[in-house]
Amino acid sequence: MKLKAAVSYGDSNFVIEDVFYEDIDPEELLISIKAVGICHTDISSTEGIYPFTYPVILGHEGAGIVDKVGENVKGIEEGDHVILTFAQCNSCEACEQGKPYICESFYRLNTHGVNYKGTKKIKLESGEKVSNFFGQSSFAEYALVHMNNVVKVPKDLPLEYLGPLACGIMTGFGAVLEKIKPKVNESIAVFGCGTVGLSSIIASKLAECKKIIAVDINEEKLLNAKKFGATHTINSSIEDVPKTIKEIEKNGVDYAIESTGIPSVLTQTVDCLKIPGMVVILSATKYGTKIEIDYKSIQTERQIVGTVMGSVNPTQFIPKLISLYRDKKLPLEEMITFFPFEKVNEAVASVESGQSIKAILKF
Ligand SMILES: [Zn+2]
Ligand SMILES: [Zn+2]
Repeated sequence: MKLKAAVSYGDSNFVIEDVFYEDIDPEELLISIKAVGICHTDISSTEGIYPFTYPVILGHEGAGIVDKVGENVKGIEEGDHVILTFAQCNSCEACEQGKPYICESFYRLNTHGVNYKGTKKIKLESGEKVSNFFGQSSFAEYALVHMNNVVKVPKDLPLEYLGPLACGIMTGFGAVLEKIKPKVNESIAVFGCGTVGLSSIIASKLAECKKIIAVDINEEKLLNAKKFGATHTINSSIEDVPKTIKEIEKNGVDYAIESTGIPSVLTQTVDCLKIPGMVVILSATKYGTKIEIDYKSIQTERQIVGTVMGSVNPTQFIPKLISLYRDKKLPLEEMITFFPFEKVNEAVASVESGQSIKAILKF
């Protein structure tokens, strides 16, 4: 079938053009995409951080309506509302334990440009094959996805707001509520205040952290952080972060979240911790990125731990996020700015400048 997609050729510009999909497999669904969030990982993926080859169709926060269902798919019907999350094999040890975020095939299925069968089912008009992203490539009018990527959502909710629940918001909330699990009145510093960082701030407020310190270089983003629950903000381009944090919290913070992906920022997060303290890193960085940490600074039982997708199982965690949204504890409307699909490049620029927190392309 022929459809329009935003294709990336490995520079910062997305080109909207016709692409062609092969037929649906028995384990797949064809989803008519209604809206798709732009995640920072989509933007950094235009710069070669992953092993897939260009051209690629990015997009991994798709929300849409089921248009066709493969014959082996159970429990989902045509017309159902769904959001698309990361690809998982559903058969390795981690997947069987309900931890698909550490699926042994996670990177192969999500970032190597091929589908679950190891093939590419999308072509340009010239016949050139196009890489797939996160098993969904949802910067397109339709997505051809494996059933493991799909989470059904209630039809009474505004579908166009829900895509980010499957990545950015899930990651930020999961990092706090599932990975850190802070106790009431503990303190946290969040480095980087994009969607993931802001989601961590909202979750920290729900967890009743006493001090929630937002750190960024962008004043616009710091204002948003304050609006969503940060008790303090630090502009790291003009302030000494460890020193300022210790003025706010004498011995340092209990936890830090590193969402910038910048190695020197991670080094700094460790210096802001109480002893022992824990840093959670959750950004998509280029393979081979090295960090510099003073040996002594982590010998005091400090932990630097990673999380993939907030360490959550989407089929269980997304319904929790939906409940929070219904209870008005997750202010999606205040986080989201809509752009028509054709304005994808403007939407990316708006996220980069901090003007939009979460940009969503609408079809
Ligand atoms: Zn993402
Ligand atoms: Zn697996």
